[in-house]
Amino acid sequence: MPYNWKVSRHILPRLGRAVSLLVLLGTGPVLASELVIATASPAGVYHITGRALCSLVDIPCEARTSDGSAANLAALRDGEVPVALAQSDLQHFAVTGSAGFSDQGPAPNLRAIAALHSEPFTLVARRDSGITRFADLRGHSVNVGNPGSGQRGTMMTLLEAWGWSLRDFRPANELPADQQSLELCHGNIDAMVYTVGHPNPSIAQAVRLCDAILVDVGGEPVERLVTGVPYLTRATIAAGLYGEGQPAVETFGARATLVTSAEVDEALVYRLVAALFDNLDAFKTFHPAYAELSPETMITEGLSAPFHEGALRYYREQGWLPDEPPTTEPMP
Ligand code: GLU
Repeated sequence: MPYNWKVSRHILPRLGRAVSLLVLLGTGPVLASELVIATASPAGVYHITGRALCSLVDIPCEARTSDGSAANLAALRDGEVPVALAQSDLQHFAVTGSAGFSDQGPAPNLRAIAALHSEPFTLVARRDSGITRFADLRGHSVNVGNPGSGQRGTMMTLLEAWGWSLRDFRPANELPADQQSLELCHGNIDAMVYTVGHPNPSIAQAVRLCDAILVDVGGEPVERLVTGVPYLTRATIAAGLYGEGQPAVETFGARATLVTSAEVDEALVYRLVAALFDNLDAFKTFHPAYAELSPETMITEGLSAPFHEGALRYYREQGWLPDEPPTTEPMP
């Protein structure tokens, strides 16, 4: 049964912070002492991230698989989960109510916790498809990602920048991340996209089992997408990550971010943030994509939503962010 943190939101403020801390320490009702982190497909890094965080935090914690970033942002908004992972581009679109979130409007309660690993937009094609650049995708059978996934969101933005639509593919498929490599190998799709940290086992599987190639994604539309925005950047997938002959791949990408809602208890978020940063070296052992993480970049890059109070408290205690300016009392 999904953990209903909304109940704690209504009850806990009345009991006061001292009691809420006791609850979180596990001495009170179970309700507020559990953490659920919405991740994505088991094929990606998000699920590893959720499990890593759960192993470090000293409260009962579940890393829950999901359809991906867009689904997670919707679940946060609906109060179905207290914490989620989401791509920085989708975080931005959710906060501002733009792109794929224009129907919902802005999300004023969305809060940032921290930025994590970088997620290059990765285009993988069958070698015999003749696809060697993004422009070659037109007319091919392309897996654009399942609805709710981050790669689907990034793909839609990219298609718009190119002046294309899903109808430019023959056809556009909607397979989830954990199925697309096998379908590529079986010849049912010519290309697939995945916004994900590297190295990724399902991409490795496609390269190893069916001689698939990683393709550069660049050009003027990409330049336009990444210029002057904090949530997308150019990205390089290092040479040799997927076998000796694989050259460096030039593309663009987002960052994985940890997000929550303003309505989630401050102490819960504080404890999660403390678990991550107090144990950053241990966290990094869970996946090579975390190698470059540092507190400085994790609190400055790729975040569009304001920080949650619990995260702010930890960053101020560490001296990473300035203390809140004193509120000036109105003159009598
Ligand atoms: N970026 C993907 C998404 O938002 C998930 C990647 C992963 O699972 O690591 O759906």
